Amino acid sequence: MTTFEIEPGRLFIGGRWREAADGARTEVVDPSRGTVLTTVADAGAADVDAAVRAARDAFDDGAWSGLSGRERGRVLHRVAELIRENADRIAELESRDVGKPITLAHAVDVNNVANDYEHFAALAHSLDGSVRDTPMNALAYVRRRPLGVVAAITPYNFPLILAGSKIGPALAAGNTVVHKPAEETPLSALYMADLFKRAGVPDGVVNVVTGGPAAGEALLRHSGVDKVAFTGSTSVGRKVAAIAGETLKPVTMELGGNAAHVVFEDADLEKAVGAIIKGFVFNTGQFCMGAPRLLVARQVHNTVLGILADAVPGVPVGDPRAAETVVGPMAGERHLRKVEEYVELARKEGGRIVCGGERLDLDGGYYYKPTVIADLPNDSRVVQEEIFGPVLTVQPFDSEDEAVELANSTPYGLASGVQTGNLARAHRVADRLDAGIVWVNDWAMLDPAVPFGGVKDSGFGREYGPEALDAYTTTKSVVVSLD
Ligand code: NAD
Repeated sequence: MTTFEIEPGRLFIGGRWREAADGARTEVVDPSRGTVLTTVADAGAADVDAAVRAARDAFDDGAWSGLSGRERGRVLHRVAELIRENADRIAELESRDVGKPITLAHAVDVNNVANDYEHFAALAHSLDGSVRDTPMNALAYVRRRPLGVVAAITPYNFPLILAGSKIGPALAAGNTVVHKPAEETPLSALYMADLFKRAGVPDGVVNVVTGGPAAGEALLRHSGVDKVAFTGSTSVGRKVAAIAGETLKPVTMELGGNAAHVVFEDADLEKAVGAIIKGFVFNTGQFCMGAPRLLVARQVHNTVLGILADAVPGVPVGDPRAAETVVGPMAGERHLRKVEEYVELARKEGGRIVCGGERLDLDGGYYYKPTVIADLPNDSRVVQEEIFGPVLTVQPFDSEDEAVELANSTPYGLASGVQTGNLARAHRVADRLDAGIVWVNDWAMLDPAVPFGGVKDSGFGREYGPEALDAYTTTKSVVVSLD
């Protein structure tokens, strides 16, 4: 494996690197050791203003927005190529920053984001208008136009992928971007800024400002921003939507989740257990599409608990640099504390800890053992709220109707899943689950061709699929009199 020093980060504005106007910097922590990894510039309002102006100038001069979709697609293909050529370096950066196991950073984060940019490149190629048939003596045609400057605000858990899910379609459609990554995990965003430049994205088209909520809010409020693409928690999402509402900016909201994984008595349990474990330990449970709520038909409830009690303690937790590690540390100390608090609460709420239930003492890192909890009532906070850690609650159900009712009983609606050997039941239940995506007999099968997003408190708008372009374009109708 390659190793390299991580440089202190600066802001990337108008194609140049610079310090924050007031010189402020913030620390980035290595979650596997609890030590400082590096520092990055902490943007203030003046820096955000400079970034938006750079993006606006770049949009107006047409060096990107004026290209044909095919030309933009060619550059986005080059982005994907450069990601693949530099996969080792990017995976290591993402692994060190977030605490992701290096093997998964490679196989999932880097590989998926390269696939995603190829998909967005293809979307740029196929960006198309239409001609409308009307009774008027006129030629009516509709073109798709870019919106202008896009503010992309992203969370800490999948920095590379979630930046790509916004910057990719924004660029495909001809917009320019100011990206504010999460303050805890900003490193891959800075790497990508340089990569975009190397791929031939003109200066000012992608700008990166590192900073916290204040920088995010300055970006949202800026009159030069035409669209907001936000991924983060539901509570921050509400504030973001309110500010976007005040300033009349269109928003896409990818918010929290608390998915249910429903296991029927006719499921192939041996196969299902892999999906169940993946569903709650993947990315150390810091996964908006994770499945922390397992609902199991009463006939097989105790069997499934027994299988989990045997299998879960064997999941390799440890140093993200080790090839065999499946579960790394939580990305930050505050996330570890939150998990500890929820498990404590579960004990008070009558939960039975089947396995785990404590942190793992290793190298000063923020590790928590994958934890399975039975016997919690459905209205307990541990079941209803988003924990965002490697914690699974297990509840029995007695009928298909009850399974659906329990699955839909939280405010969230991002993902859901069904394990069954009955095809008709699979479709019937998938149809009734409140979720933007439903998996049958597996978990987290993702592809850029498949649209993704939430319902209810999990947000609105769709990323990926051809639908992704809807959020980054507007239509312009032209009606030409033929008289
Ligand atoms: P968060 O809401 O705390 O922060 C997200 C981003 O918003 C960060 O960049 C942060 O600096 C910024 N921010 C915070 N306050 C702001 C404000 N007032 N104005 C503007 N920007 C502000 O989320 P997090 O803790 O980084 O990420 C975890 C959350 O993200 C979880 O709830 C998870 O479910 C959700 N998430 C959702 C998806 C999805 O696709 N739906 C994907 C990943 C994560």
